[in-house]
Amino acid sequence: MMSKVIVLRLGHRIKRDARITTHCGLVARAFGANEMVFSGEEDKGVIASLEKVAERWGGDFRVTYMHSWRKFIESFEGVKVHLTMYGLPVQRVIDEIRDLGRKKSILIVIGGEKVPGIIYKLVDYNVAITSQPHSEVAALAVFLHEYFRGKELELNFPGAKLKVVPQKCGKKVVKTEEVP
Ligand code: SAM
Repeated sequence: MMSKVIVLRLGHRIKRDARITTHCGLVARAFGANEMVFSGEEDKGVIASLEKVAERWGGDFRVTYMHSWRKFIESFEGVKVHLTMYGLPVQRVIDEIRDLGRKKSILIVIGGEKVPGIIYKLVDYNVAITSQPHSEVAALAVFLHEYFRGKELELNFPGAKLKVVPQKCGKKVVKTEEVP
């Protein structure tokens, strides 16, 4: 049994990042994290759209805004991981982090446009998903996939109102009371 996984998304800007921060939350939820906290500009729209997804598709994923990311990281009791192209390759450190995650909560910090330099020192691990620049959404997805060893692909989301019935071709979505 793994402990809680919390994602901290830094530097949210309402005008430019609404979509990408929402995508961070969608990925966090779908790939097994318990919670996302975001800092930068407060944005009720991001919270509302992620809450709506959780209400329809189930689970108890939570999203909150936190003004002081620094206090949040410093007071976090658990293992702190920052995803950055400059860190150690994920394949080298993921077993160690997963072992720690059996007893301690994990905080995964992902950046936005610019990450304050102090972050690198506030965390226990700086982890790279390749040493190439890409995206916080992709980095988060791959990290969670490695962390949960693919088991997150089979996750069930209790209380879902809607469920997809996988199809070779086309879309089939049923209301949960219709699921046999
Ligand atoms: N040059 C920026 C920096 O690191 O300050 C890159 C910003 S990138 C658009 C936004 C975020 O995506 C980064 O803060 C990091 O969390 C994540 N990211 C991008 N490439 C990554 C990689 N190769 N490995 C891990 N995380 C990555």
